[in-house]
Amino acid sequence: MKELAIVGGGPAGLSAAIYAARAGLDFIVLERDGFGGGQITSSHEVENYPGAGRKSGFDLGQAFRDQAVELGAEIAYGAVTGIKDLGDCKELALDGGEPVRARAVIAATGASPRKLGVPGERELTGAGVSYCATCDGAFFRGKSTLVIGGGDTAVEDALFLSALCKDVTVALRRDVFRAARRRTDLLSAKENVTILYRTELTEIRGEGRVRSVVLSGPEGTAERPVDGVFLAVGVEPAGGWLAGLPLALDGGYVAAGEDCRTSVPGLFAAGDLRKKPLRQVVTAAADGANAVTSAMEYLGR
Ligand code: NAP
Repeated sequence: MKELAIVGGGPAGLSAAIYAARAGLDFIVLERDGFGGGQITSSHEVENYPGAGRKSGFDLGQAFRDQAVELGAEIAYGAVTGIKDLGDCKELALDGGEPVRARAVIAATGASPRKLGVPGERELTGAGVSYCATCDGAFFRGKSTLVIGGGDTAVEDALFLSALCKDVTVALRRDVFRAARRRTDLLSAKENVTILYRTELTEIRGEGRVRSVVLSGPEGTAERPVDGVFLAVGVEPAGGWLAGLPLALDGGYVAAGEDCRTSVPGLFAAGDLRKKPLRQVVTAAADGANAVTSAMEYLGR
């Protein structure tokens, strides 16, 4: 039995681990992916985390992890598949492992890429359709790619791909980007990048691998040959493992204020999984600190 279990090893979970270690709590971090670091590790470049300068997301995630481990955090690898409230503690079910019990739990499992839901997407995922340019971009060196979305992820993906691919088309459904202006200006200046506004992807075609896409925009609907499609249309909360609890949600995200307290006593939500106005590494890290402070109050420490 631990005092605290932190589920998720991204910036929120690892920041919580740093605070829990410094507070002397008996805790464990459970991380699904062998490496940890969370979504940020697939970001090509991060330049808005104060004090870190310009770093790859991988290096930033690694720095969070190293700091937590150096301070004494125990990180166990395994996917948490469910949670039970046993009154005086919570029991976490682990995929292929012994359950873990803890008096308090911080849920920091973040979010995962949203699917667009167009014909061909599911069938061709891994065969030209990807949700991670830094992971899969190298397969498209010298080729034609399409990026869908107008947020920071889409713009970062397109910037990354523009250095590798013959050409990159970015299609967004509105006539304005959601992403930071500094990055969209950089993207607009790239010679091998074409930006299509008010344009939607309606179908991905190919047998065994992507051959073309159907785009619908102000000029009508047309088929366009491409080798790769990178979908960056936002994220969805990764909180399926919490389904066993009578937990208040808001738009699918866990309802909790800045103190990270949820409707279930002893359960705290930190990072992208929490309903919040801004999902960034810096707000995830802040949540980790707040969640531990609230957990300590709950534990009477
Ligand atoms: P996002 O900010 O939610 O942007 C999603 C984009 O996809 C928007 O352009 C949205 O269009 C579009 N979209 C959503 N559903 C669509 C659909 N069905 N069809 C077509 N387009 C669709 O998501 P994100 O870019 O993944 O970013 C998530 C969070 O991480 C954000 O807070 C972002 O700032 C942050 N982030 C930060 C960095 C960084 O600072 N280095 C890097 C990556 C991500 P509309 O605009 O029309 O809704």
